[in-house]
Amino acid sequence: METDRLKLYFDYASTAPLDPRVLGKMRPYLGREFGNPSNLYKLGRNAKRAIDGAKEKICAALNCGPQEFIFTGSATEADNLAVLGIARANKHLGNKIITSAIEHKAVLAACRSLEEEGFKVVEIGVDKDGLVNPKEIAGALDDKTVLVSIMYANNEIGTIQPIKEIADIIRNFRKSNKQEHPYFHTDASQAVNYLDIDVKRLGVDLLTLSGHKIYGPKGVGGLYVHKGIRIKPFVFGGGQQAGIRPGTENIAAIVGLGEAMMLAEKIKRKEYKRIKALRDRLERGIRRSIPKVILNGHPELKLPNILNVSILDIEGESALLRLDEFGISVNTGSACNSQSLEPSYVLMALGRPYEYIHGSLRFSLGRYTAKESVDYLLKILPETVKKLRQISPVNLNPGDKKEMSLPQAFVGGQTPHFL
Ligand code: PLP
Repeated sequence: METDRLKLYFDYASTAPLDPRVLGKMRPYLGREFGNPSNLYKLGRNAKRAIDGAKEKICAALNCGPQEFIFTGSATEADNLAVLGIARANKHLGNKIITSAIEHKAVLAACRSLEEEGFKVVEIGVDKDGLVNPKEIAGALDDKTVLVSIMYANNEIGTIQPIKEIADIIRNFRKSNKQEHPYFHTDASQAVNYLDIDVKRLGVDLLTLSGHKIYGPKGVGGLYVHKGIRIKPFVFGGGQQAGIRPGTENIAAIVGLGEAMMLAEKIKRKEYKRIKALRDRLERGIRRSIPKVILNGHPELKLPNILNVSILDIEGESALLRLDEFGISVNTGSACNSQSLEPSYVLMALGRPYEYIHGSLRFSLGRYTAKESVDYLLKILPETVKKLRQISPVNLNPGDKKEMSLPQAFVGGQTPHFL
């Protein structure tokens, strides 16, 4: 791996490089240990043992039993399984799903597809910092609600949702209505590296994980499903994973996920502190050196590694390409949106005006980010912005911007967090 390129990589929320220790554990299963875990002879038993070992590490981190975790091909698939699987298995109990407007598309698109099957989806809005109001969820709950799906931390802005509070509301609702639904799902793909993922402490019934966000391999994820909850598969085949997600298991990827989870747990507290200090340094540096910048996301309740800013009078994509020329990798929004020039639906949900959304950049830090990485970025970024502002077609004359003047352009007229 090119270390310089890694040092200047600021897109960990999109994907993280495979940790060499994880690769080391995976290697045998990409080579001589090629057995099928469903077979009874030694090669098969070795593969089965490898799955069990990985599951043990994951379940220890989640504080759940081995029957409560299902390996999937990605967090996208785990989200799909949570939404489609719970809704379809429990449709005799009700047809309502509550989610938020800033969920990952893996949840939102799955919910929308259920509308064609007669489900009613309520998308709760967020405030200007990207926070869901638990009272709004409480207000939307009724006895026909089968699923509530609210992400733990957002991938674009890093805002952390009050998961425990929402879980309490749902538990109390179930108790007073003497029913076992709705079930509560959270997508923790971005949270695993930094936040508590003990499912009992969180009070969630389902939780999604992704391998490549935690320095594990791509193409593997998983779903925690609380014991006894009915979930309907959408993949059919043999009896692997109790028939919920059949198909011969991807042993190397599963071993990698297990190792990555264990490592993430081990260094969580230390990395949280280290990375937050670097992110704050970056935030302060940008505040000092670039005028007309606003922060997207909650000023405090956010992941320690994400900084999303909107820079007026530039296009995020142009900045991304310029920074790339210096070896710096950043993103303009979520990884999934970077192929399209559609404005980010997450930033739209915060009520940001278009001219700010187009100038948004997401910096996400990780294990290889160092002080020098941040300082180099702080050297290059202000010059880049200055140059882009000189040539940008969106750098209009002040008079042309009348109809988008601040703060009226922000929903509710609330003042944005200027950096
Ligand atoms: N959920 C969240 C919050 C994410 O950030 C991502 C990745 O961008 C996903 C789900 C999808 O993960 P995967 O690439 O494993 O399908």
